[in-house]
Amino acid sequence: MNSHLRNRFDLTGKTAVVTGAGRGLGQAIAIGLAEAGANLVLVTNRTSAAETKSSVENLGRKARIVQTDVADRSKLPTIIDAAVETFGGIDILVNNAGIIRRTPAIEHAYSDWQEVLDVNLNSVFVLCQLAGELMLEQGSGKIINIASMLSFQGGINVPGYTASKHAVAGLTKALANEWASKGVQVNAIAPGYMATDNTEALRNDPVRSRQILDRIPAGRWGDNQDLIGPAIFLASSASDYMNGHVLCVDGGWMNR
Ligand code: NAP
Repeated sequence: MNSHLRNRFDLTGKTAVVTGAGRGLGQAIAIGLAEAGANLVLVTNRTSAAETKSSVENLGRKARIVQTDVADRSKLPTIIDAAVETFGGIDILVNNAGIIRRTPAIEHAYSDWQEVLDVNLNSVFVLCQLAGELMLEQGSGKIINIASMLSFQGGINVPGYTASKHAVAGLTKALANEWASKGVQVNAIAPGYMATDNTEALRNDPVRSRQILDRIPAGRWGDNQDLIGPAIFLASSASDYMNGHVLCVDGGWMNR
């Protein structure tokens, strides 16, 4: 690859904040961004992010862990403050932390609905606001929100999750419309069915597992490595003319 092309994807010296960076998709994205050159603020709640931090540091980058519950709105400024204190600012925000609660709508407890919206949507809005303010001031920034196939479809027995992920897609477009002309790109990645803790219940259900696999043209569940390339692309100058796009990384699921 020539250096001109490599520069388009290079994140050297950039500061990235990734929520949910201790495991699953967020861990892979964080390490992928470090591979491309970024220093990382690793946001985690219950899982230690020590493994992610070591991986980032082994790549020669710097990492700071912020342990916090993103559902607690009052704590969210500490995440952005950590990026500013440690690295002098923020260039990339990946809103990845997410939860799912599976029960039919009639039985869906209001507390589950609320918790899912707090983690999957409300934290995304507030972190976009906080990071967006700094990015608008500096005239550049990349925000990547993690959406879902359920940003487009209804799903089964996950009404709160579906509502939150539809809203994440809408919010991504709304912010992109406001910020695109000011140098800040806001986009989303919609992962397909990926083998992580989030989908363990589905993968353990032989009927649903088979139904899902049968619909994936690529013929396999995704894994967290599948998101690294798309995340680097959306975090880098290679995607400077992309605004408000929801990029499906789904083995072709949405085409069926
Ligand atoms: P996962 O393995 O269950 O990991 C969830 C992540 O979110 C963990 O890092 C977790 O941190 C973090 N998190 C949850 N609640 C949090 C809170 N209150 N505060 C801070 N962090 C919190 O799930 P995943 O599959 O990697 O999912 C990552 C994202 O991709 C989610 O937004 C999910 O909706 C989305 N997604 C996943 C799939 C899939 O097939 N797996 C498909 C589409 C979209 P702790 O471990 O510290 O709690």
